[in-house]
Amino acid sequence: MDTYPWWTEEHKAFDKEMRAFADEVMPLDVETRWKREFPREIFDRISRKGYGGAGVPKEYGGLGLGATGACIAAEAMNRMPGSGRTFVGNMLGGLRQIIEFGTEEQKSRFLPRIAKGELGAIVITEPFAGTDAAAQEMGARREGGSYLLNGKKRYIVAAGTAQRYMVYARTSQDPEDRKRYKHLTAFVVEKGFPGFSVEKINEVIGFENIQNGVLDFQDVPVPLENRIGEEGDGWRVMTAGLNFERTLICAQTVGWMGELLRNVVPYAERRVQFGKPTISFTNNQFKIADMMMRWKIARLLTYHTAHLWDLGWDITLESNMAKVYNCEGVLASSLDGIQVMGGDGLTPFYPLAAIMKVAKVENIAGGTMEACRLVIHRTGMRQFADDLKMPRRVIHEKLGVPVPAADLPRKEKSVDEEQMLKVLAEDYRVNPGLHMSREDLKTFFDVEDGKLDEVLVGLERKGLVKLLRDKRGIALAKATYDGLNRAFPKEHYKWFPSWVQEENIF
Ligand SMILES: Cc1cc2nc3c(=O)[nH]c(=O)nc-3n(C[C@H](O)[C@H](O)[C@H](O)COP(=O)(O)OP(=O)(O)OC[C@H]3O[C@@H](n4cnc5c(N)ncnc54)[C@H](O)[C@@H]3O)c2cc1C
Repeated sequence: MDTYPWWTEEHKAFDKEMRAFADEVMPLDVETRWKREFPREIFDRISRKGYGGAGVPKEYGGLGLGATGACIAAEAMNRMPGSGRTFVGNMLGGLRQIIEFGTEEQKSRFLPRIAKGELGAIVITEPFAGTDAAAQEMGARREGGSYLLNGKKRYIVAAGTAQRYMVYARTSQDPEDRKRYKHLTAFVVEKGFPGFSVEKINEVIGFENIQNGVLDFQDVPVPLENRIGEEGDGWRVMTAGLNFERTLICAQTVGWMGELLRNVVPYAERRVQFGKPTISFTNNQFKIADMMMRWKIARLLTYHTAHLWDLGWDITLESNMAKVYNCEGVLASSLDGIQVMGGDGLTPFYPLAAIMKVAKVENIAGGTMEACRLVIHRTGMRQFADDLKMPRRVIHEKLGVPVPAADLPRKEKSVDEEQMLKVLAEDYRVNPGLHMSREDLKTFFDVEDGKLDEVLVGLERKGLVKLLRDKRGIALAKATYDGLNRAFPKEHYKWFPSWVQEENIF
């Protein structure tokens, strides 16, 4: 696959190096999957090479290649679904949180360990708090120079194998703090802290040789020096890491999409049915074309998002959009690939079934597709606000149909009931089934909100207007049937296309 024009020479060289490294360790990955053993040797080699430090700044012992470098490493390593996922987990396990919220002492203490490939884990999810991550119940009670953590966390990748756990716990039960998202605090818990244990290892698809489990915290003392950010900053710390995490998950999916094609195409070129290679059947070509298209778009989305992050942009929208596109895309591509390969695609002798499993996992882990869509909707409504304004339309003088307006209406400096009713009634001609918003009405009247409300409520009391209220007050308004008739004579609303003969109308 191509490099991108905005990559530095260092990125390009790193991409080459990572691809060669992936080729080298792939046999080990497959072997450990068959044996259901954690791929320890791969992680030892990663540690020796320092690849875990792709996104760690150079001054803390990393390679200083930013989000782009971290994605390059994640893409290459995810020719191997299980090891690749764990590699990403390692880089994610507190990296961004420590860079953004850690003190200088914490950065010097933890970042070189991450760069050396020490395994980390992200610890958010609980038995009773999944998508609703703010509902976490695990408590952290301050006692002198430490906090005591009590509770359980579940579905944690690298449970038991990781050394470092980025944990979120509740430090306030005050409903006001909860409302302001100031109830959580972030901590680094280290393997070996008293009272910290693994309760269960889950059997999860796609994690056949990677531990995923439930953690138990019983009066676990965490020193103040391991608190990341201030008390009550946990939500901010957590969400700061999420956008980075989602971008890296996207890079994983790009690795998988490439690996699917690397298997499917040569296979279909060599598999003969009805006297022809199966790649000559149009249905297989269409599936391969879709897989190529998704791969190319997913890769572009990923590296564009990573680049924006490296430039210091807020990537909330981009990372969530990319996560939905890429994770749904890789799942669709794995199913397409299996279909092209027939029964062989379903066996563990090719990587398609393994990729299908981790692809489904990534539709849930790291933020479900629905959770990402909620973020996209909320952020998009804010970010695209100017592009999503109602286009103004007016009735064409001769044609009598709605057409785009070339200019804004003349704004009245005052408003009375008659003027308001006429505006609402005219809007019935332009958008017959829609209400008008406060913003729409304000393009006609340059008056205070209070005055607008007073006139609208007056008309509502007379039954001439219907109002819809939200928690901020009057949100939408429309003229009622009586209101329409009061504003204009019936004839004002009439319109027939030219082909209709008047004698057929009453
Ligand atoms: C393999 C695997 C690895 C994981 N690794 C980690 C890890 O390392 N660390 C960690 O902290 N967590 C991890 N998780 C947990 C993961 O983040 C959660 O599973 C995920 O956030 C969803 O939570 P849930 O499973 O409790 O589903 P639920 O929250 O119970 O959701 C169930 C369904 O309802 C939908 N839903 C929920 N709320 C809404 C809403 N408001 N609107 C619309 N739909 C909604 C969801 O999208 C989903 O489809 C992992 C999970 C898996 C499966």
